Amino acid sequence: MDHDTRTYWEGLAERKLTLARCGDCRQWIHPPKGCCPACWSDNIGHEQPSGEATLFSYLVQPIAPGGAPTVVGWAELAEQPRLIVVAPILDATAETVRIGAKLTLEWTGDGPYFQPVFRQEAQS
Ligand SMILES: [Zn+2]
Repeated sequence: MDHDTRTYWEGLAERKLTLARCGDCRQWIHPPKGCCPACWSDNIGHEQPSGEATLFSYLVQPIAPGGAPTVVGWAELAEQPRLIVVAPILDATAETVRIGAKLTLEWTGDGPYFQPVFRQEAQS
């Protein structure tokens, strides 16, 4: 946690995804930075995105023998192209994960910081 990431972490403690957003050009910025990469403004505020996302990419992370591997997704938030949050995809396996799937935001963990995770919507 540092000056640029403090608001993000404080949001996680309340099960809220709180991302940096430029107060001048309105660009969402994640991971948080002290300066907007689009217009170089240092007028950085924080807002909560909807949590709606699409699976942009993923990796299957192996774990210790006997456990199921974890699917870690690159969730592209609906608010902006390439606004990516990297998080586990619940209940997905290498066989069921689908690039382009609609994702919904959920939370796991016992605190004080909760972990954002996503779940694939059922294929229609
Ligand atoms: Zn900007």
